[in-house]
Amino acid sequence: DRINIAIDGPAGAGKSTVARKVAEQLGYIYIDTGAMYRAVTLSALRASIEPQDSRALAALATSLDIELLPGDKGQTVLLNGEDVTDSIRSREVTLIVSLIAANETVREVLGAMQRKLAAKKGVVMDGRDIGSHVLPNAELKVFLTATVEERASRRFKEISGKQDVTLEQLAQEIADRDRLDEQREIAPLICASDALVMDSTAMTIEEVVEAIVKLSRT
Ligand code: C5P
Repeated sequence: DRINIAIDGPAGAGKSTVARKVAEQLGYIYIDTGAMYRAVTLSALRASIEPQDSRALAALATSLDIELLPGDKGQTVLLNGEDVTDSIRSREVTLIVSLIAANETVREVLGAMQRKLAAKKGVVMDGRDIGSHVLPNAELKVFLTATVEERASRRFKEISGKQDVTLEQLAQEIADRDRLDEQREIAPLICASDALVMDSTAMTIEEVVEAIVKLSRT
């Protein structure tokens, strides 16, 4: 029988790569919920809406059309029909996404979309609050972590040459985003009580994927 798998954890722990590969192996659908928060954030930046302006953000969130399409090199993100797959990864978006994601209406709108996408089972969903809030009944919940240093160094290798940023800057930004995600009042990053904690610091992506696929079959 098909199940739902929730993968939560801090920024840069490898959630999206792992989730995508697990979905591939199981023939499941991969859903990157961070991409949805990023799409709302990009839209807010374009409309010059401040993260503190909760009424404007709420109105924006309810008016947006966000679509996730499975693509060959990952997932394509459409915002009102426009392909924003690359632009939602900019540093500008990354720096404020946690603040936008603290808006209650934004979370309600995206959370409802996420539950709908998972209704038929066979979904691997990654985010911050999937096991704890969006899919509390997910059959398998993983909380994936790694040290800040390891996460920064992975991200550095990923983007090296593409963005003008040092390893130290990245480590600082990741630590800052952890703090914002963990300490915000609305939907702070927490590990669900029934989630399995996996520290991937000394593991390869393949090892993590293999472990989760195995767990999904037991
Ligand atoms: O996963 P990613 O790093 O792309 O997520 C970007 C941001 O979106 C996170 O730092 C977090 O603030 C927010 N987020 C969230 N809830 C989720 C997924 C992402 O609040 N389920």
